[in-house]
Order: sequence, then structure tokens, then C-alpha cells
Amino acid sequence: MIVIRHMAQSRIRPHFMTHNPSSSSGAPIVSVTDLKKSFGDIAAVKGITFSVQPGEIFAFLGPNGAGKTTTIKMLTTLLRPTSGEIRVNGFDPLIDQDKVRKSFGIVFQDPSTDDELTAWENLELHGILYGVPTKIRRERMKELMEIIGLADRTNDLVKHFSGGMKRRLEIARGLLHHPKILFLDEPTIGLDPQTRNHLWSYVTDLNKKENITVFLTTHYMEEADKVATRIAVIDHGTIVASGSSAELKEQTKTQSLEDAFLALTGNTIRDESASAIDQMRIHSRMFRKR
Ligand code: ATP
Repeated sequence: MIVIRHMAQSRIRPHFMTHNPSSSSGAPIVSVTDLKKSFGDIAAVKGITFSVQPGEIFAFLGPNGAGKTTTIKMLTTLLRPTSGEIRVNGFDPLIDQDKVRKSFGIVFQDPSTDDELTAWENLELHGILYGVPTKIRRERMKELMEIIGLADRTNDLVKHFSGGMKRRLEIARGLLHHPKILFLDEPTIGLDPQTRNHLWSYVTDLNKKENITVFLTTHYMEEADKVATRIAVIDHGTIVASGSSAELKEQTKTQSLEDAFLALTGNTIRDESASAIDQMRIHSRMFRKR
């Protein structure tokens, strides 16, 4: 079922190389102008503007329900904006869906590998869906299994993997088609501190080796502090601050990114005002953490 859902989500037509209008012009790899998204009466994103430069590790931080996932969904063609403009790798997600989809890899909040397939089969399926030619695909799969430290588990069923191993496999899968941008939506949720540390080491290594742009969300401020080159803080659908971690601390006269974040977004618990969807998500997370 997961395979079918993933195929339906991707629906990529098989052409591998995509001309990238932003690479030659030195333009931002992601740019967002006055972006809005409403769900009925709920204004989830209220006219945000920001850009991300190629090679940056950009952290998009905010309390529960701030609008992070909604923004990522709009950037990755999964949701249609109410208004505003988006460019991803120079392409408009409303016009060039396939080109946008080929420009990024994504690791979702919820696990999305197929447990009944081996690690190799999971990668192979993704590579085929993205139309990566066989020879290039196989070479890249071998290389990625080495990079994520799972080369000796290539033919094992994913159902026998730990949570951390599955996450690493998801990252490898997201990188298989050589995307310019990797979206990581709370990739370390539910992982132990050791695994979280390792995971960020892989991501920063990849960022250096392949100059891949990383767009991440996390609720772990120390992680964002360690890895992000730039941070934007979103609250109630509005960007309330952006800059490096040092700049945010200076702006708020605080000593840690967590204190800066709290100074910018306040201490009110957001879950009380969350919708039924949020409540379900929160409960499922609590059970997953046990
Ligand atoms: P979290 O950290 O909890 O994942 P988030 O910052 O990613 O939060 P979003 O998931 O983007 O927040 O949600 C922003 C707001 O939009 C919330 O009030 C949420 O309830 C609402 N929302 C999101 N998706 C939908 C939907 N499909 N229908 C109705 N409301 C939605």
C-alpha cells in the first residue's frame, strides 16, 4: 500500500535531466513571494516572503501549527497556494510540476519506505519512478548505500531495520535522482540522540560533498543551531524573524537558539488551539515515541 501511495504521490514522467533556469543566473534556488494558504476560515500561511540560496542549510522553525508543513507542501507541488508566487530551482510549481518534482528529494514526517521490500528494492522503485536510466541508477544506489552506511544491509527487508536505518534509507531515496534541494520535514522525530546526531552528520556531509541545498524543519533547536546556515522563524502563518542563529540570539538578547525562539514566539502552548488534524497527529506521535 505504501508503495502505491508513494507512486501516486510521485507520478513523475520519465525524463531524467532537467534544464535549470536558476543555476546559470545565480538566482535563489527557492523563492517565495507573498505566499498565502487558507483552509476555509483557517489562514495557515498569511503572506510569507523568503528565499534560499543554493548550498544553504535553511531551517524553517515554528511552533505546532505555525504553517511549516503547509509551506513545504506548497513548495513541493502537494498543495495549491491560495495566492502568491513560488519558484523552486527556477520553476513555478503551478506550471512546471514535473520539473519542480525532479528538482527536490523529500523526507516526510511520517515513515514512507516499504517494509516488505529490501533496501535495494525501495531505491530501485524510486529510481524507476523518476526515470533515472538503469546504469546511472545502479551506480548511484551503490554509492548512496555506502554514504548512508548501509552497504552491508542492501538486500535485507526494511521491516528488519531500526527507525534510524529507515530514515537514512529515506534520505538516500530522496537523493537518488540527484536533486538540487533536499526537504526534510522533522526528519529526526522519535529518534534517539545518537541516531539524530549521525543523521545530521550525513546531511551536512552531503551538503558539502554534493552542494545540495537543505530545507529543514525541526522542533529540536539544538539541531537547527548546529546545522543551519540560516533560519526563518514562522508563527501563526507569518515569518517573525530570519537570520543566522547568532543574529537571532543577538536580536532577542538571548544566549541560546531555544531562548531566542521562545522570545520570538512566546510561551503559549499551541496544541490547545490546534485543529482535530493536529490533535490526531500529536497523539500518533506520542504513541510512536513510546
Ligand atoms: P507541526 O509542527 O505541528 O507539524 P506546522 O507548522 O507544520 O505544525 P501546519 O501543519 O502547516 O503546521 O498547519 C498550519 C495550520 O493549518 C494549523 O492550524 C492546521 O490545523 C491547519 N491545517 C493544515 N492542514 C490543514 C488541512 N488540510 N485542513 C484544514 N486545516 C489544516
